[in-house]
Amino acid sequence: MKALDELTFDNRFARLGDAFSTHVLPEPLDEPRLVVASKAAMGLLDLDPAVAETPLFAELFGGHKLWAEAQPRAMVYSGHQFGGYTPQLGDGRGLLLGEVYNQAGEHWDLHLKGAGMTPYSRMGDGRAVLRSSIREFLASEALHALGIPSSRALCVIGSSTPVWREKQERGAMVLRLAPSHIRFGHFEYFYYTKKPEQQAELAEHVLNLHYPECREQPEPYLAMFREIVERNAEMIAKWQAYGFCHGVMNTDNMSILGITFDFGPFAFLDDFDAHFICNHSDHEGRYSFSNQVPIGRWNLSALAQALTPFISVDALKEALGLYLPLYQAHYLDLMRRRLGLTRAEDDDQQLVERLLKLMQNSGVDYTLFFRRLGDEPAALAVTRLRDDFVDMAGFDTWAERYTARVLRDGDYSQEQRRERMHAVNPLYILRNYLAQNAIAAAEQGDYSEVRRLHEVLTKPFEEQAGMEQYAQRPPDWGKHLEISCSS
Ligand code: AMP
Ligand code: MG
Repeated sequence: MKALDELTFDNRFARLGDAFSTHVLPEPLDEPRLVVASKAAMGLLDLDPAVAETPLFAELFGGHKLWAEAQPRAMVYSGHQFGGYTPQLGDGRGLLLGEVYNQAGEHWDLHLKGAGMTPYSRMGDGRAVLRSSIREFLASEALHALGIPSSRALCVIGSSTPVWREKQERGAMVLRLAPSHIRFGHFEYFYYTKKPEQQAELAEHVLNLHYPECREQPEPYLAMFREIVERNAEMIAKWQAYGFCHGVMNTDNMSILGITFDFGPFAFLDDFDAHFICNHSDHEGRYSFSNQVPIGRWNLSALAQALTPFISVDALKEALGLYLPLYQAHYLDLMRRRLGLTRAEDDDQQLVERLLKLMQNSGVDYTLFFRRLGDEPAALAVTRLRDDFVDMAGFDTWAERYTARVLRDGDYSQEQRRERMHAVNPLYILRNYLAQNAIAAAEQGDYSEVRRLHEVLTKPFEEQAGMEQYAQRPPDWGKHLEISCSS
């Protein structure tokens, strides 16, 4: 265990120099205070969880103090936003403080979001408000606990600094951790600004630090791109299987590591709705729930375009061709497990599709359906669940096929079935209304609800005593909350 001043830095990205990032100091928040910290994320830095409560912790992550070895940098990148290319973006309100390595030899980027203006702030104020910082914190740690690759969050620091959005709010900072903060948009920036040397330097950097095993391949860059395609296919399969809607899948929000990244107006589905749009600025539904799958491919094509100086077009196309089959394989595998099935059969895809079709417009809670399906033997569980469906006759037909399929699957006890299903079907997810309740209390200075919700979500598959209220369907007011993009 380390004290706060014992972190060891090795700032590899900063060493790439001024073509890649700009030195900027964090702008401190007034009266910084701890809102919430993640013990698990602190463990990644070998930090003793007790240090979260010290004044130094809030000072460091509220922008007042810096380690001598930190080198705060705002990174430059660009990207496709809602399908159109924006030539220059960059860290407009976040800073890469430095890279810390832990005792296991892993590197973690420390990225402070909400740290003030940078050369890339454009019209923005460089700040993040408390509600969006809490949402990013909770989502990062909740996704990780569900087994969905994601950036992590160490803490949220609140303040008395006024920040103007639609109304006056308070500034906050969230400390994000990831092995890298390099996005698809980094590659696009150097490609479209026609800087081949820097583009090559960036590619070498990513290859050496994050895909070293690809070095051994005959075409290392191609091997790296293939790996990126595979990781994205797997990540998006998990989003779809668990009902996660990212909301702003612009290429500047896509991590080069295939982890969920840059949270805005994200949501987990309550009722299943394939066409759900969580971002209220997304008028055409470009990033609707079901569109996430083709958009994943679209984003990878945008990255492929930026990699044409290194990889032949034919090879890039072939690698892109892997995306959909890989996605489908991962998705089906997960959905099979969610249904409690252990072996593959040809008609499984159809079984899943029919179920989702019945759920559509039926008001069925996506998370609780699977959890309850595992609570009882299949034949009994479906009789309890049928009342939730509008098309009960349609559900009966499905249920008959499903129970027959379960019987063919294997001869296991209900104990085994429940245990296996509960290990993949969470009881607790980050519902918008739960986040909203926690935020409302935090805005009044009471952080207990954020902390409790965070704790519950770190063990989403385990039933926790006294926490029933976190495993309920949303009340009516909580079903269609508008999550503003102005965070
Ligand atoms: P996002 O939609 O949060 O991914 O942000 C898109 C771009 O806008 C990025 O370059 C951000 O750094 C920048 N940005 C977002 N909010 C702000 C803000 N409040 N101040 C400055 N830049 C911002
Ligand atoms: Mg972004």
